Amino acid sequence: DAKRAGRGRAVVYGPALGEASRRMSQIEVALRDGLRNGQFHLHFQPKAEALTLRTIGVEALMRWNHPSLGTVSPGEFISAAERCGFINELGELALREAARAARELPNLTVAVNVSPLQLMEADFPERVRRVLAEAGVPPERLELEVTESVMLDDARGAIRRLHALREVGVRVALDDFGTGYSSLAYLRAFPFHTLKIDRSFIHSLGEQSNAHAIVDTIVHMARALGMRTVAEGVEDDIQLAAVRKMRCDEVQGYLISRPMPLDRLKAWLSGRPVQATGDNVDSRLMP
Ligand code: C2E
Ligand code: MG
Ligand code: MG
Ligand code: MG
Repeated sequence: DAKRAGRGRAVVYGPALGEASRRMSQIEVALRDGLRNGQFHLHFQPKAEALTLRTIGVEALMRWNHPSLGTVSPGEFISAAERCGFINELGELALREAARAARELPNLTVAVNVSPLQLMEADFPERVRRVLAEAGVPPERLELEVTESVMLDDARGAIRRLHALREVGVRVALDDFGTGYSSLAYLRAFPFHTLKIDRSFIHSLGEQSNAHAIVDTIVHMARALGMRTVAEGVEDDIQLAAVRKMRCDEVQGYLISRPMPLDRLKAWLSGRPVQATGDNVDSRLMP
């Protein structure tokens, strides 16, 4: 059969696909063990108010260090977990660890990424409520980030669940906005508090491109719909100045800080303005 599919195909995909799929199946096998043996943990990346650079929250990002596979990126293991039925377990782990972290990060919002598959579970809002209650964390300290794909498969269910989550009291954000296929009509129907503008647009802001017009339009639209905006992947002063000028509310990216373990975050925060009144503002970056 493989032969019948054509020689060219075998030549093009042969060895490369073999290696990639071998790694994929190793990852799938290692997931179960990794979950049992506590190999997963969160890193945290600060989010700052665009104008003052005051830290107002963090995003929790899952990390996996496997004894023989080494560092596996979320891009690899999240989709593997979704395929293999481990994503709810991994997602629950992220929620619990994030709730624990929230207790040590007073005044900051902690954002957790949620897979569309988690949002498809009817009891997801109740699970979130329970995790927060057990950790003793007020719901408004938690933000959940979902990608546009939830607007495509089972949109009705997703809308229902997002409303239920809002009733629990957590914040909900639309992640990577602009990369999916969602229409504005859809966006109107989804009760997001926050819209995170994908870093591909932010990346192109310094260049001669239409990115500026796109980001500007997104910020205006979000404001008209009553949503806050976050510029993702801000890496330099030019990009920061641009999103400030466009009145984007928050910035996140390597310019502020890379994601880091909780201990390092706490040390980093102690040298930074947290819920300050603006006296620690980095004047170099002021508009
Ligand atoms: P995301 O939610 O959009 O997270 C932002 C990603 O951009 C992170 O990659 C972060 O390290 C990276 N990033 C932040 N600032 C910059 C920057 O200035 N420049 C560049 N080039 N990159 C930046 P990471 O940690 O590799 O995560 C990738 C994706 O994996 C996340 O994208 C999210 O979709 C997913 N993910 C991570 N942790 C979890 C989790 O616990 N659950 C679920 N369901 N998905 C997760
Ligand atoms: Mg995210
Ligand atoms: Mg994102
Ligand atoms: Mg992403």
